[in-house]
Amino acid sequence: MCSLMERWYPAATAESWDRVGLILGDGDRPVRTVLLAVDPVGAVADEAIALGADMIITHHPLLLRGASFLPESDPKGRIVARLIRAGIALLNAHTNADCASDGVARALADLVGIRGAVPFEEAGTDDEGRPIGHGRIGQIDPMSLSDLADLVASRLPEGPTGLLVGGDEERIVERVAVSGGSGDSFLGRVRDLGADAYLCADLRHHPASEHLEAGSPALLCASHWATEWPWLPVLAERLARAEARDDAGVEVVVSTIVTEPWTSHRPTQGGRA
Ligand SMILES: [Zn+2]
Repeated sequence: MCSLMERWYPAATAESWDRVGLILGDGDRPVRTVLLAVDPVGAVADEAIALGADMIITHHPLLLRGASFLPESDPKGRIVARLIRAGIALLNAHTNADCASDGVARALADLVGIRGAVPFEEAGTDDEGRPIGHGRIGQIDPMSLSDLADLVASRLPEGPTGLLVGGDEERIVERVAVSGGSGDSFLGRVRDLGADAYLCADLRHHPASEHLEAGSPALLCASHWATEWPWLPVLAERLARAEARDDAGVEVVVSTIVTEPWTSHRPTQGGRA
């Protein structure tokens, strides 16, 4: 499993600040059941233990900023201890999965129905010669921003925060950019690439406001979890196909636990006067 993930999502393609690979456990132990999730949080550990999984593959790292102490009184220490006791390995693919040709950005582009999607900036090719790099941009059938928002909302997995729309909803859009997770840093890039609309997550007030004041593209801001989750079924299918070839009979389970920090959404209704 580790070598397969390294072949598809090489650690060398991750950002230098990132931490990707086998976080804990024995990478040489055979894997019969693997659980795929976005976040290595307590609820996902519970799910893996209940499932009798041998491995969890997550998108986000558990210990990105390092740790000097991992007592069980610490939430992360508790996850580490529980997984080790249950014999469950933990592996992650983060920015190396974001940029991959069958990665997070590509899965989001496919979900929206973008044709001819290419990275914002090519960062090389994979072993099949397909481009890798952050984000994806390409064409959709022309439609209003309002219709695109409805389409995206209908296809992203259900979660508490939903989808925010910024821009003139009547405007027709056909060149669409997407990036899973936090998208602030690519705002200038997608404008330079001529995007009519940009779908990502975690956009902050000032970058989004200043960007819209300057014109294009319109913004679709979903939840971080919802924009990255669509990669999991893609990875599940790849793993199942590869393992079927090896006749190893691995069971691949995609977690449906919503690991957003938020639990529900309220439209605010107070007065403005
Ligand atoms: Zn993320």
